[in-house]
Amino acid sequence: MTDQPVNPDNVTIDPLILPSFPEKKLKAEVLRLDKIHPEISGNKWFKLKYYLAEGRNARKKILISFGGPYSNHIVALACAAHNHGFASVGFIRGERPAILSPTLLTAIKYGMELEFLPRHIYQDKNKAEFLASLHSKFRDALIIPEGGSGDAGVHGAEEILSLTDKSVFTHICCAVGTGTTLAGLANASEPQQQITGISVLKGTRGLEPLDACLIKDQKKSGRIRIIHDYHFGGYARKTSELLDFMNALYAASGVPTDFVYTGKLFYAIEDLARQSYFPEGSRILIIHSGGLQGNISLPGGRLQF
Ligand SMILES: *Cc1c(COP(=O)(O)O)cnc(C)c1O
Repeated sequence: MTDQPVNPDNVTIDPLILPSFPEKKLKAEVLRLDKIHPEISGNKWFKLKYYLAEGRNARKKILISFGGPYSNHIVALACAAHNHGFASVGFIRGERPAILSPTLLTAIKYGMELEFLPRHIYQDKNKAEFLASLHSKFRDALIIPEGGSGDAGVHGAEEILSLTDKSVFTHICCAVGTGTTLAGLANASEPQQQITGISVLKGTRGLEPLDACLIKDQKKSGRIRIIHDYHFGGYARKTSELLDFMNALYAASGVPTDFVYTGKLFYAIEDLARQSYFPEGSRILIIHSGGLQGNISLPGGRLQF
């Protein structure tokens, strides 16, 4: 646990050479949002930023949101709420387990109160009736959508590219859950840039994870591609091949990744590069969206970092 504030100055832009890059004549740089804070890592800070401002302006006392037992968003919210003087309540998917995940234990350390919702209730968490019941139970609360999605989340994500000299890149690549981060990147992108998202969900198609209305200039939609072939069996699923790749990436470049999002992103970029997805001479910006705390759920020693 830490009272350390978020510090965008900690973010670095590191050159990265993946195995196929020399032959394919590609260059890449990694925007290391994972370095922004030990616990509010990466894109979650940007997505929460304007929700925190909204809570402050409306003089709310409590921040409420939703997530699974290993949610990066839940732990980021708990920490951000603590650092900004809010109480927080996390509604967690599923029954209360006998042993809480390390993620939830961290959230509790930051003062978050946890409430467990059976899956059939969790499914309906965005319905008006459920939200009304929350508002009447928690009168001073701001309710933040799962994953920090929604307009305020996109607004924050639009600021990610301001940490770089963005105009030099031909491609911007990120992992996609709700698509909020991708929408923010696309809104802030320049006309010559392609935005490639790697979906970590199984069974999504086309631009489906993304709420298309969040793209402010619809002309930009034509430059967005979401690729659906790298979920490794579904959300938070993994294979030995993925974990071995993450170890090899770390050994070669010193970049640590998580198995839910960024490991799949980097794997996909190398695989796509090998298939000549990126034209020769492309300069790729890879968004390292953080999430390293999620690796705690892996058996000790499986990752070499
Ligand atoms: C939440 C998360 C994402 C997904 O972001 P969306 O905006 O929901 O698409 C990507 N990477 C990491 C590390 C995350 O924690």
